[in-house]
Amino acid sequence: MTQLNDQLVRDMVEKVLQTIQSGWGSRQAPTPGKSAPPPVTVGYAPVHAAGAATGAAPRLGQFTSVDEAVAAAQAAQAALARRSLAQREEICNVIRRICIDQAEELGRMEYEETRIGHPPHKGPKMATVGKVVQGVEWYRTQTGCFSGDHGITLEEHGPWGVIAVVTPVTHSLPTLACNAVQIIAAGNALVCNPHPSGKKIAAHGAKLFNQAIYDRFGIDNLICVITDPTIESANALFRHRDIPLICVTGGPGVVAAALKSGKRAVCAGPGNPPVVVDASADIDNAARCIIEGATFDNNLLCLSEKEVFVEAPVYESFMAAMEKAGAVRLTAQQMNELGRICLEVPPEGHAHANKKFVGAEACVLAQQIGLSVPPSCRLLFGPTTADHPWVQAEQMMPCLPVVKADTFEQAVDMAKQAEHGFGHTAVLHSRLVDHMTAMGKAMNTTLFVKNGPSVAGNGAGGEGYASFSIACTTGEGITTPLTFTRFRRCIMVDNLRIV
Ligand code: NAD
Repeated sequence: MTQLNDQLVRDMVEKVLQTIQSGWGSRQAPTPGKSAPPPVTVGYAPVHAAGAATGAAPRLGQFTSVDEAVAAAQAAQAALARRSLAQREEICNVIRRICIDQAEELGRMEYEETRIGHPPHKGPKMATVGKVVQGVEWYRTQTGCFSGDHGITLEEHGPWGVIAVVTPVTHSLPTLACNAVQIIAAGNALVCNPHPSGKKIAAHGAKLFNQAIYDRFGIDNLICVITDPTIESANALFRHRDIPLICVTGGPGVVAAALKSGKRAVCAGPGNPPVVVDASADIDNAARCIIEGATFDNNLLCLSEKEVFVEAPVYESFMAAMEKAGAVRLTAQQMNELGRICLEVPPEGHAHANKKFVGAEACVLAQQIGLSVPPSCRLLFGPTTADHPWVQAEQMMPCLPVVKADTFEQAVDMAKQAEHGFGHTAVLHSRLVDHMTAMGKAMNTTLFVKNGPSVAGNGAGGEGYASFSIACTTGEGITTPLTFTRFRRCIMVDNLRIV
């Protein structure tokens, strides 16, 4: 039998107080996991009786030293571990609420710092974190139970502790906020080494989130940020002995560094999503969807359409449909000319984007070759060969190469080659189920979108939840709170079964 002692009594009293204060007893049914809206509590009173502020000014997650950041996050995680699931959910909702309420302002600040992408898309991107990223409600549905002659077994998903996070310049604060909601929902704290070119907005966002969490719950530093991040500080974080798990979102360099660390790493690496349009497709819908996906935030998304392979019989009608839907058609010669300016082709290795043009507006790209297109034009496109740098590079700018394929099979072969085995995203426009099955198997990507824009694969227009970290490299896929947990099993042998 359990012996009562002072600590046990204190813990019990704290739990009861938390339940009363949160207004949500632990027996309330969990919200179903799928696309749960953020139930937000507003106008709340502080409930930080336990683990409350010590009198020292809060750091709000702002650190220059990796060691100090990890130590502070560890203390925050220990405080979080003493709180109820209901409070954890409220903490996630505080972050989500800020992402929704301050979306426009935060999006504007992100653009002012990074100067990449399409400004009107920054706010909606920020708000996505508040709307479709999974929190505690997802985590709570994943508990398993077994009851039988040999007693009771309970399977749970526990926290790791402090998780190291690296975020890309393309979505600095959205990625940090998304990772924070999921990581905290799973009971962890995090230390983020943001991209140096998005460090101010990452630090500002973390400050806002931490301040709101501190005011309401008295826990400081759940979300720590290295305010002057470098490759060295990222590697120091990866190697830190109190970091058991790493989550990186970025290109091949950071993925390689994380995997070299000797730690378990969730790697949301690069993509180069190909689109195949076969002869059976609804061509007008294909053109509209491709423009929608490829132009979101000027093609900064890792899952956005990057090159198109079209079956010969519908090639001309597809090109005409793209023009009709508002994209500006370039000639093969203009594609070559623009490619020489916007892409870099090293003597060895893959072609890649010239950073100067990543996320630029279509009209700015057009200017580079003396072409005047109105600012309302969102996409340039034009014919290339399959081995062209426009096809091979992850360009992250609104200019799409289109390749004519003799057959559907050839289109899929070329798409597979262009995807480089990243296993990220592929898109098909077709009415033939056999083609869908064949391409799905051949591509073997994390996301395989049919007859819609690429973004439908990540909660925008298709079913399902979303994340800013699609862990294609290491196989976790679209991250959820479960991605940041350890599996644990609790077994009572030959007892406790009450039926
Ligand atoms: P990037 O690789 O240049 O930088 C990403 C992050 O990694 C930055 O914080 C950077 O400072 C850090 N970094 C880079 N090299 C490193 C190294 N050797 N050691 C430690 N840290 C290192 O990428 P970016 O330009 O910021 O973002 C665009 C890339 O991210 C694209 O390749 C895109 O596909 C990818 N991305 C993937 C996802 C996904 O969910 N799979 C989401 C967004 C972006």
